[in-house]
Amino acid sequence: MNDLTYVQKKFINYIETIMQSNKLSHSYLIELGDSSLEFPFVLSFVKMIVCPKNVTKVASLDCGQCSICRFIDENSFLDLKIIEADGAQIKKNQLLSLKDEYQNTSLIGKRRVYIIKDAEKLNPSSANTILKFLEEPEEGIVAILLTKNRYQVLETILSRCQVLSLLDTTDIGIVDDNILLFIQYLLHPSDLFIHYKEIIETILIDKECAKKVFNLVEKIFIYYLSYPDGRDDLSFLNGIEKKKFLDYITIIEEELPKLVYNINYKLWLDSIYSRFMEVK
Ligand SMILES: [Zn+2]
Repeated sequence: MNDLTYVQKKFINYIETIMQSNKLSHSYLIELGDSSLEFPFVLSFVKMIVCPKNVTKVASLDCGQCSICRFIDENSFLDLKIIEADGAQIKKNQLLSLKDEYQNTSLIGKRRVYIIKDAEKLNPSSANTILKFLEEPEEGIVAILLTKNRYQVLETILSRCQVLSLLDTTDIGIVDDNILLFIQYLLHPSDLFIHYKEIIETILIDKECAKKVFNLVEKIFIYYLSYPDGRDDLSFLNGIEKKKFLDYITIIEEELPKLVYNINYKLWLDSIYSRFMEVK
């Protein structure tokens, strides 16, 4: 776990504080973007909760001496259940069997954790099943719900969880293929020229579209400069000079404010276009 981002450090700090001050709650909702990158942080939290060594520092988890932590890494720890959506939704019976399993076997003094991935896929019926469990948890059972966006989670669930976030504030979310294509054209002025009409008809239809697109493009470039290896879908930017991105960012920042209501949109487009084509 080298080169942690600010948000990741903050997260670690937070879970360490929880453990050190003995303030473990019964239910957490953790927001995360790229789950393959960020899931290990969730597992660190799980380990801290269940590790018999009462670890309160994430760094101390790497000793490799504890069998429970190793079982967690191998995904074979029996007191950690992970529930994933069965298709587009998390179904009621998935949660019923979890409840049965955890409620009917009591382990005195031991903690158990269940993780619900994509908590926004809890529908009202499956949410109902889990609500009571969240409200009146059995001693020692900790719920960790994961989501990409807390605002998509049912309010009844959200209000019962303590929210932690691994989401970067510069997070750009899922980027539409057309935008990615546009960026590719942008970086190769001859393509930009050839596809001019097509681009206008698909993503730069009017001023409002242009504002959104160029704001996003700028955000993507800023993100890429901060995290060059952060996302697979931006790997096509690898190898391009940093200066080029800064030039595009400058152009966007200078041209976008000119896009006021009474400007001739077509002329504005022509001018920002010709500036893009000049970037070397
Ligand atoms: Zn351990």
